[in-house]
Amino acid sequence: MLVIGIEGTAHTAGVSVVSGDGDVLSNLFRTYMEKEGIHPREAANHHAAKIVPLIEESIHEAGIERGDIDLVAFSQGPGLGPCLRTAATAARTLSLSLNVPLVGVNHCIAHLEIGRLKTDAEKPVLLYVSGGNTQVIAFKKGRYRVFGETLDIGLGNMLDKFGRERGMPFPAGPTIEEKAKKGEKLLELPYSVKGMDVEFSGIMTSALNKDATLEDICYSLQETTFAMLTEVTERALAHTRKEEVLLGGGVVQNRRLQEMIGKMTEERGAAYHVPEPEFCIDNAAMIAWTGYLMYDSGTSISVEESHIKQKFRTDEVEVTWR
Ligand code: AMP
Ligand code: MG
Repeated sequence: MLVIGIEGTAHTAGVSVVSGDGDVLSNLFRTYMEKEGIHPREAANHHAAKIVPLIEESIHEAGIERGDIDLVAFSQGPGLGPCLRTAATAARTLSLSLNVPLVGVNHCIAHLEIGRLKTDAEKPVLLYVSGGNTQVIAFKKGRYRVFGETLDIGLGNMLDKFGRERGMPFPAGPTIEEKAKKGEKLLELPYSVKGMDVEFSGIMTSALNKDATLEDICYSLQETTFAMLTEVTERALAHTRKEEVLLGGGVVQNRRLQEMIGKMTEERGAAYHVPEPEFCIDNAAMIAWTGYLMYDSGTSISVEESHIKQKFRTDEVEVTWR
């Protein structure tokens, strides 16, 4: 069985072909680069321009013909309305023209499923930290449940915003990581854990107002926010009695975050897994693969039911494949 997946929740337009055996035959993407924060309509225009060539290239790279495709999967949400609509329109058109079924995939769950496919993780707690999202997710009683999440913005967006104010190129995460390596002094920033949830915008404001070297500020930003995430992830492990952490989202490429999660899991006798970068960031392979799992367990939708869900909750999805 061959599935074509279309991703388009935010910056990234992606198209991938994945087989039912879990082989990723192609996984291509183009990213909309922002200057002044993401503009949803401009990002959607970017996706609209790229999606058809991406479909063609992805089919070509997979070494298949259009007619070989058995299923179309797309990112139904959560995300930015105009971007989601563009991806959904492409998916509906493809499904109708090829006369194959359509599946709408929850983007956050897809990060977890691709991690289970691409690493040794089996029953993990997912720490998903990207530009727009920050969530701790685990499977419990038939659903993927959110155990903790950001109450304001995603950590990646916060780092990018901070970086923009300080003249760093977009995305700022990698530059902040480099600067932080030279930082020595831990500055006091608000440590905002509320129950199992976290908040980042107050930390950013405080960091922007610090009178200190940029290296020390970057170091302190990372130490503080990563400690918050590590704390919440550890509590999710304890609560769910799980023994594996899976990392997902662009921010988890940060070595210091991996080190802190690694230390925490080691101390608990647990394990942690990081997929390769192409499967950490927003990618269409995760949409195709999760679409396959859903379809294989009896889920598909009609075009009429395929409306996008900007606020698609992780725990809305009935998990039929586990
Ligand atoms: P995503 O939204 O999952 O595609 O991930 C993009 C986000 O990851 C952006 O906000 C980047 O700033 C962030 N990011 C990428 N690499 C790093 C890094 N090494 N450290 C921290 N954040 C990063
Ligand atoms: Mg993502």
